[in-house]
Amino acid sequence: MEERQVEFRNVSFRYQEDMPWVLKNVNFTIGPDEWVAIIGHNGSGKSTIAKLMNGLLFPQEGEVYVGGTKVNADTVWDVRKQVGMVFQNPDNQFVGTTVRDDVAFGMENHGMPRDLMVNRIQQSLKAVRMEEFERHEPHRLSGGQKQRIAIAGVLAVSPEFIILDEATAMLDPKGRKEIMQTVSDVQQERDLSLITITHDLQEVTMASRVIVMNGGEIWMEGSPRDVFSKKDHLTEIGLDTPFVSKMADHLKKEGVRLSREPLNHQELLEDLC
Ligand code: ADP
Repeated sequence: MEERQVEFRNVSFRYQEDMPWVLKNVNFTIGPDEWVAIIGHNGSGKSTIAKLMNGLLFPQEGEVYVGGTKVNADTVWDVRKQVGMVFQNPDNQFVGTTVRDDVAFGMENHGMPRDLMVNRIQQSLKAVRMEEFERHEPHRLSGGQKQRIAIAGVLAVSPEFIILDEATAMLDPKGRKEIMQTVSDVQQERDLSLITITHDLQEVTMASRVIVMNGGEIWMEGSPRDVFSKKDHLTEIGLDTPFVSKMADHLKKEGVRLSREPLNHQELLEDLC
């Protein structure tokens, strides 16, 4: 099996034996340098996928592989080193009295040597453009800054995959934009694979691939352009499309010919000029 990939092989999962399956025979592979957005209604199984990826849960049926290693109780610590996670609420992720302590927390958990830590803290804070905040108190930071610190903590462990589970949901539009820009820069600089779980359709357009979940199954999969051009398939399960897609539809109904499904206003304008 190829290294540096996450693979779900016929994965089914339920929280308890007498409860319904929340994932049903899910198969996918996420390779190096990919940015995969997972979308779907509440309860469609997105967070469960994230938790299976970093060994917070184990499947009852099928297997999850991270970097060629099957995720189970014996491999979980090694897996968590490779798969970092950032959650929705930044306040739940803080443990230290300074930013520096917070960023160090993940490394301490993984038993990294102290002399390595100092360098890693600085590098990670620099990557999220928060290097001046090393000695600040985390609880005084804005929501967006807190999430950047959480990302720095994950980066410090030097993972190959980062999962952002609704990590921008509690931020204002400016904070969201900053985080997504940071994440996009970090992905390119560090050669990482990203998995983002989000309701924000603008974020989805930044991904290289989209997995649409419905009722615990993969409903469709493809590039953002592919997925958003199949609007009927999305609306069938009540999912929305980005504003620019709706504008494009409206124009097409008025007889305007477009060469492609636009992912942002710039693309739409280029097509119209
Ligand atoms: P999503 O992230 O798409 O909102 P989740 O993966 O959180 O979906 O949830 C999938 C299903 O599993 C939902 O029906 C949810 O109610 C159920 N579920 C999630 N967490 C638990 C839990 N800890 N115990 C029991 N059921 C759960």
